[in-house]
Amino acid sequence: MSWTNYHSHCAYCDGSDLPVVYVAEAIAQGFAAYGFSSHAPIPFPTTWNMQMDKLPAYVAEIKALRNQYQAQIQIYVGLEVDFIPGLIGPRSKFIQEAGLDYTVGSVHFVDVLPDGRHWEIDNKPAVFAEGWEQIFKKDTRAAVTRYFELTRQMVREQCPTIVGHLDKIKMQNTNRFYFAETEDWYQEEVLKTLREIAAAGAIVEVNTRGLYQNKTTEVYPGRWILAQMKALQIPVTINSDAHKPREIAGKFDYAAQLLLETGYQQVQVLLNGTWQPIKLTTAGIGR
Ligand SMILES: [Zn+2]
Ligand SMILES: [Zn+2]
Repeated sequence: MSWTNYHSHCAYCDGSDLPVVYVAEAIAQGFAAYGFSSHAPIPFPTTWNMQMDKLPAYVAEIKALRNQYQAQIQIYVGLEVDFIPGLIGPRSKFIQEAGLDYTVGSVHFVDVLPDGRHWEIDNKPAVFAEGWEQIFKKDTRAAVTRYFELTRQMVREQCPTIVGHLDKIKMQNTNRFYFAETEDWYQEEVLKTLREIAAAGAIVEVNTRGLYQNKTTEVYPGRWILAQMKALQIPVTINSDAHKPREIAGKFDYAAQLLLETGYQQVQVLLNGTWQPIKLTTAGIGR
């Protein structure tokens, strides 16, 4: 039994180590495949996105590792691409021309603060509060609705291979109560989003990062959403969103158990160059 992971960061963006260190760890843990998905360059400065001039070297380095270690593991190169309407998305020209195996599409930014900064919904509580107050006038429903609207627009207009951390905005509830996942309006926003994802045919990742970082009490997306996804036959893959080598399989056993409990018996994996379903157990993937 082994695992795969296609959402991971390295020193080309805000990960801790050079790509080869993650490859060595994945081999040591018996992974069948490992994919890199650095934060794609965006047209304004952040401390976590890759610099545009590093992109060719990133793709070349991962592809060299693929060849070097092909007897032990399958290595893939992707990017985690922000969706910001009019600025960047998973189908931006430079993304399509980068020679990637896949994309993870994620909404981290929702609209713009009065001072011109793009509002980050997954930053520190104080940063979240800024946009909640200044853009949305403390209207939680409007802010959360806008987050899911952007996710739907991304899926419709620039569908990625994998939709990243679908309900990440819930992490802000850990620090302060903003909304209950049982509220009707919230569930309807999620369901509308799931229906668009099902129509587009994207994979949704089960992202374990919030859980192993103790930022959430549940994976992204959580149990009730996974049950709805199963009903809509949305394909899933288990990803750790690792930034450090020790995180590459963080809480994968929990995620697998949760998926099995919600009725998923298979996950999608990228093997031999093709996304395909594979049998899931709590100990990993395998036929
Ligand atoms: Zn992300
Ligand atoms: Zn990530």
